[in-house]
Amino acid sequence: MPVKKSISVTSKLAAPAKVGFVSLGCPKNLVDSEVMMGMLAQAGAELTPNAEDADVIVVNTCSFIGTAQQESIDTILEMARHKTGGMAKRLVVAGCLVERFHDAIRKNIPEVDAVVGTGELERILAAAGVEEAPRAPGPFNILGSNTLTSRPEGDHRREQGRFARDSWDGAVADLPNYLYDDHTPRVLTTPRSSAYIKIAEGCDHPCTFCIIPQLRGQFRSRRFESVVAEAERLAQSGVREITLIGQDTTCYGEDLGLKDGLALLLEKLAALEGLQWIRFLYAYPNKITGRLLETVAAHDNICSYIDVPLQHASATVLKRMKRGGGADLFLRSIEKMRRVIPDVTLRSSFIVGFPGETEKEFDELCGFVKEAAFDWMGAFSYSDQEGAGAFDHDGKLSTREIESRRKSLMSIQKKISRAKKKSLIGREFDLLLEGASTESDLLLEGRTSMHAPEIDGRVFVNDYPDGNEPKEGEFYRCRITAAHDYDVVAEIV
Ligand code: SF4
Repeated sequence: MPVKKSISVTSKLAAPAKVGFVSLGCPKNLVDSEVMMGMLAQAGAELTPNAEDADVIVVNTCSFIGTAQQESIDTILEMARHKTGGMAKRLVVAGCLVERFHDAIRKNIPEVDAVVGTGELERILAAAGVEEAPRAPGPFNILGSNTLTSRPEGDHRREQGRFARDSWDGAVADLPNYLYDDHTPRVLTTPRSSAYIKIAEGCDHPCTFCIIPQLRGQFRSRRFESVVAEAERLAQSGVREITLIGQDTTCYGEDLGLKDGLALLLEKLAALEGLQWIRFLYAYPNKITGRLLETVAAHDNICSYIDVPLQHASATVLKRMKRGGGADLFLRSIEKMRRVIPDVTLRSSFIVGFPGETEKEFDELCGFVKEAAFDWMGAFSYSDQEGAGAFDHDGKLSTREIESRRKSLMSIQKKISRAKKKSLIGREFDLLLEGASTESDLLLEGRTSMHAPEIDGRVFVNDYPDGNEPKEGEFYRCRITAAHDYDVVAEIV
């Protein structure tokens, strides 16, 4: 049976405590880490990038698939060593793994002093043993308050048990319903010119491979004005690129009664002073409206970039995934995106080896990927998740078969990507310089508007005009001079 969430703290640390953070998983989790760091810093804690120096170590975990859970557990155990044989006095585990395995973490890893679920970020202060400084409460941060509502679709799914965790032994009992706002302190960990903004949390979709709705709760949007105020403040502090995220950004505003909420939000953000690149990630296929595409096309500072995880292309697999759609429909929608937004960069991701995926269905997916010719594409191996609808499906494929299919899909994309990157040679783009390359001391690295932070290929910069050494965080005009499978080489002109 699920248990009530609890954080046990036996004593407070003498301030200022030094707190080290390890953030795992996706950018949505990173924003949660940044919010917790903001709260800690506001309460007087000192943040340190070195686990060796930290009095308190916080591991913000991911629980999306089996490998992510394992990485989370390995990281907790690694950090626990700083407590048993190092400086650390307290170890805190936060994030998705807590929602799922609250009891097991407390029981099996005795070094863990406190756990913080995704819906209780404000409790990080107590969990870390840091004295709480008085803070003006953000007025609109809890679903269920008078100011936030849910979508009828989500309420319906809730009644049908989509968010139930009863089958999970030792999970946190209450669904998370937290949302940060523009009053919430936040410490940015991204390069100074770039920031994520989480515009919504949770998800109401019924995808049968996914437990995110059970981990993150019902879909809920941040207030429109709160997002705009945060973006404005970020722009004033020197941020030039904003990436809007959420489990599904294209549902933004539906619970607030907004039609085309994301398009309206983008229009408003595009009018703010100082933002050079605005983009959104994680679009849901049938939620991409004509108005949204036209809004992207109409503004120079909204990146011509659409990230739409399609998950599969075979209509029968998509039906079993409870997502709908199929290759023909998707191809028509891609054609529309390319027509409305000239030179649009398209990213998608797929799951291979879903239960019962026949060779014919997999071939359909391969054929679709060839035809769609995405600029960027990711392929993930299906991972069985207890609590997900597909957990009870028949026809599970072997790990070996799944991996072999994943590799063949990626090899198709590799050829597409190579040809696409080659076609960029000689063309000029704006480039945001990110600093020295991790590949070689002789290279710099940056991104164009075709590259979303962290997920897409890289632009290596190997030349710039004499005496004009480019600076990190600044924009430059560059020309592509060479191409690899996913990365390109450029010179600053
Ligand atoms: S849209 Fe589907 S895959 Fe994405 S978070 Fe929601 S349920 Fe999961």
